[in-house]
Amino acid sequence: MSELILFWHRRDLRISDNTGLAAARRQSPQVVGVFCLDRNILERDDVAPARVTYMIGCLQALQERYAQAGSQLLILHGDPVQAIPELAAALNAKAVFWNWDVEPYSQIRDRTIIDALKEKGIEFLEENWDQILHSPTEIRTGGNAPYTVYSPFWKNWSSKPKAKPVENLEAAEGLTAAEQEIAKKTGAIALPTAKDLGFIWEVGDLVIQPGEAAAQERLAEFTDKAITEYQEQRNFPAADGTSQLSAALKFGAIGIRTIWQATVEAQENSRSEETAASIRTWQQELAWREFYQHAMYHFPALAEGAYREAFKNFPWETNDEHFQAWCEGRTGYPIVDAAMRQLNESGWMHNRCRMIVASFLTKDLLISPQLGEKYFMQKLIDADLSANNGGWQWSASSGMDPKPVRIFNPASQAQKFDPDGEYIRRWLPELRSIDTEYLVTGKITPLERRAVGYPEPIVDHKIRQQQFKQRYQEQKSL
Ligand SMILES: Cc1cc2nc3c(=O)[nH]c(=O)nc-3n(C[C@H](O)[C@H](O)[C@H](O)COP(=O)(O)OP(=O)(O)OC[C@H]3O[C@@H](n4cnc5c(N)ncnc54)[C@H](O)[C@@H]3O)c2cc1C
Repeated sequence: MSELILFWHRRDLRISDNTGLAAARRQSPQVVGVFCLDRNILERDDVAPARVTYMIGCLQALQERYAQAGSQLLILHGDPVQAIPELAAALNAKAVFWNWDVEPYSQIRDRTIIDALKEKGIEFLEENWDQILHSPTEIRTGGNAPYTVYSPFWKNWSSKPKAKPVENLEAAEGLTAAEQEIAKKTGAIALPTAKDLGFIWEVGDLVIQPGEAAAQERLAEFTDKAITEYQEQRNFPAADGTSQLSAALKFGAIGIRTIWQATVEAQENSRSEETAASIRTWQQELAWREFYQHAMYHFPALAEGAYREAFKNFPWETNDEHFQAWCEGRTGYPIVDAAMRQLNESGWMHNRCRMIVASFLTKDLLISPQLGEKYFMQKLIDADLSANNGGWQWSASSGMDPKPVRIFNPASQAQKFDPDGEYIRRWLPELRSIDTEYLVTGKITPLERRAVGYPEPIVDHKIRQQQFKQRYQEQKSL
């Protein structure tokens, strides 16, 4: 009987610290990787060129890692529901293993594939979690329900022991030349470029270089120093105060156990309470990521719309001009526009600014968070359904957050978090010569605006936040 196990990579584009891959290697010496460029995802209208470019870079690095380990990573392009079972059957594989995912699409797809594999007598790995430290069914309230509030989730989640990184797959056997021919006949192709797939990213360097090695380097750099100042620095978009590991986490270029272990070691080396608190704060961000993933698993309807009743039929406005101005960074509010330009030009946006622009779209422009969520998907290198949806629902006040209405004032946000206007000037070069005081308060005169070609504010923050509150009260009382 064949010993071959196909390991299907999805959002775990690495060899080290990969739970499903390690399980495959324990069960067989012949382990071959496979990745399917999923047409159902790539043909959607919310795919960012930066994200595909990063993903292809990760796949290239992964192919090299497989070659070093003595095996191969096969690439398919199509619908995995057919392509994966067909390849497994053609190669007479004993099993197909993969790591489980929380997203509604993946859940349905995977169950269909399990049925097809069962029909062909091919084994698979039962629900196996890799991208999170605790499975969605492991963290439950006293009443055995999923958490819908972060603080008690964090208390429970952080009290549980965390798994150590799992061993690497080394010295695996790959396919024979004859088997490689069969794989080709069954659809295995050479890895295309992002451009071949129709995604063009010509802006320059990605915020993080793709691949396992680059992600590990970034983690080492971050946990060496910046993590100790994270609590203070993380809110300032002009500072290099956060890890920028979100794309690596989204695509699994680095294992979450490896990341956690690095935070534990940083804690052990910390010399002051302040440092320890900073590291704790970063760990809390990792827990937010898991909170949203668990939420998506338990409440897949989140992907379709608001969690809270008052927002299910909220009278959002349809105003294409306003929406376009927001997308292009032409609202006349410097901090909002700087952030949107950062997104458009780099494929990434600082967390503080994600909150500011999301609040602005929903509370100042009264435009549905779903439009903003989709625009982020179309641009972000790290866009991830659970985190993006969680972030948008938090900002729109439509989600699980117990605080009912949260409205950010762009001027006070800029004064507090970009006090020298450094971030605004970086992304809005036309405003470089404006005095800092006017820049951060947004009190730039119409004359100055005209002189540098910067628009007037498209709405009045004071008036619009009142309108939002009024509509919210009306909805609540229905
Ligand atoms: C409207 C909105 C949309 C967002 N969309 C996404 C998204 O599509 N993908 C995404 O990964 N994050 C998203 N976030 C969360 C957060 O902004 C990013 O994770 C963070 O900015 C990434 O930068 P970093 O890696 O330097 O983060 P760090 O500050 O270094 O945090 C470390 C890691 O923790 C996780 N994390 C941090 N904050 C959050 C959070 N609030 N929610 C969930 N996970 C978090 C990320 O994986 C991040 O890489 C969104 C936030 C908002 C407000």
